[in-house]
Amino acid sequence: MSSKLNFYIKKIEEISSDDNNLSKELIFYLKEKLGLSDISIFIEDYKLSKEEKNSINYFIEQKKNGVPLDYILQNSSFYNNDFFVDERVLIPRPETEILVDYINNLNLSPGIKILDAGVGSGCIGASLAKANPKTIVYGLDYSFDALKVANINKKKLELDNFYLINSKWLNSLKENTFNIVVSNPPYIAPFDSHLDKLKHEPISALVANKNGLEDFDIISFQAMKVIKDDGLLAFEHGNNQSNEVKKIMTRYGFKDINLINDYQSQPRITIGRK
Ligand code: GLN
Repeated sequence: MSSKLNFYIKKIEEISSDDNNLSKELIFYLKEKLGLSDISIFIEDYKLSKEEKNSINYFIEQKKNGVPLDYILQNSSFYNNDFFVDERVLIPRPETEILVDYINNLNLSPGIKILDAGVGSGCIGASLAKANPKTIVYGLDYSFDALKVANINKKKLELDNFYLINSKWLNSLKENTFNIVVSNPPYIAPFDSHLDKLKHEPISALVANKNGLEDFDIISFQAMKVIKDDGLLAFEHGNNQSNEVKKIMTRYGFKDINLINDYQSQPRITIGRK
């Protein structure tokens, strides 16, 4: 095997299709994982060590199997923090930062209680806890595997105001407890074609029955009980689900429904008040 970087960059381009940019990802990987500098990468005769070659071959093998870069690096950058991620949790998406930002920009009084329902990696709950150290944030998940990852991130971000709970949605929680419930629940319909591209992510974090809407229904019903009067429920949802989500929330009594668009101007976040 060659010791030249260019050899690998060429090799990776061979398995690259139009809709992925593997050589760019490889360069990012070389910098992040192997600590190589631009100079090492772009000066042609940089000689790779045996470990570096093994690492690159590992990257190429993973990429042949379609593994997303964040899983290979076991790191995802979200809302200015680095999160540990692996195949037990969904990779945080940039749209979700809009949801976090919205909550962050509310006037969060000290001591208020926020619940992240379906915490996954913890990207929403832990980001809120980090940015608002005087609030108390609870992250709930049914998956123990997800809670283990969220706990890694709790430690990584050194949070002492972020608590993890194992529960099937909110049915084990006390009434009139939370000021804000936020959730990015599974919302893809079973057999939706988008799932083909998400085969490395946990299916339980992606798919919901009733055409992807079932969990909005369950959470809205339960949130009406556990949210304090005047508290908020905020959902991230699919770009074609805003009307349905609004209907569901209204049915359970939420009012002042507000809709926020993502970076592609698609309606992706719905907020209501109890
Ligand atoms: N709350 C996590 C996130 O936004 C997990 C979401 C999920 O698993 N559906 O990434």
